[in-house]
Amino acid sequence: MFLDIKELAVRKLRIRKSYPPGSLDFRTEEFQQLDPLEVHATAELVDGQIRVHGHLATRLELACARCLEPVIEEVARDFDLYYAPLATMPREEEVALKPADTELAFFDGDGLFLADVLAEQVNLAIPMKVICQSDCRGLCPHCGVNLNLEACHCETHPADPRLTSLVRLKQDWFKKH
Ligand SMILES: [Zn+2]
Ligand SMILES: [Zn+2]
Repeated sequence: MFLDIKELAVRKLRIRKSYPPGSLDFRTEEFQQLDPLEVHATAELVDGQIRVHGHLATRLELACARCLEPVIEEVARDFDLYYAPLATMPREEEVALKPADTELAFFDGDGLFLADVLAEQVNLAIPMKVICQSDCRGLCPHCGVNLNLEACHCETHPADPRLTSLVRLKQDWFKKH
């Protein structure tokens, strides 16, 4: 859906849309969309800027930052965004005067695609690090086993050099027996 500044000048647009997985380009490999992304929003022209505000919700699959197992993340986000025409980019002081709960960005040409707005909002909504459970033990840095599922015999603490050969002997012993 293209939000055209000329159409918005005539009337505001009420949007209710569902984007199935695969229809939005998130420009990242870090997560997969599992459920349709539901959005309801209003697009309007306010003082020459395109304002898009509303709510989106979907479900994503990400990899646990520690053990890389899939984690399901519910995403629900309110947004209230202002896009100014690129040609009239305001000075930095004016941007700083915008209320803290709004964000200002720019559009080039006649408007912008709602899909791009939504893809960006989903990227902003996901946490920097997702873990499958608060006590996820992660992968062993030496042998790579998932420590939530199995134990390994790697020495996880920095070994005293004098003990290293002993540890190695022990590991060899475990391998042989
Ligand atoms: Zn994990
Ligand atoms: Zn290990």
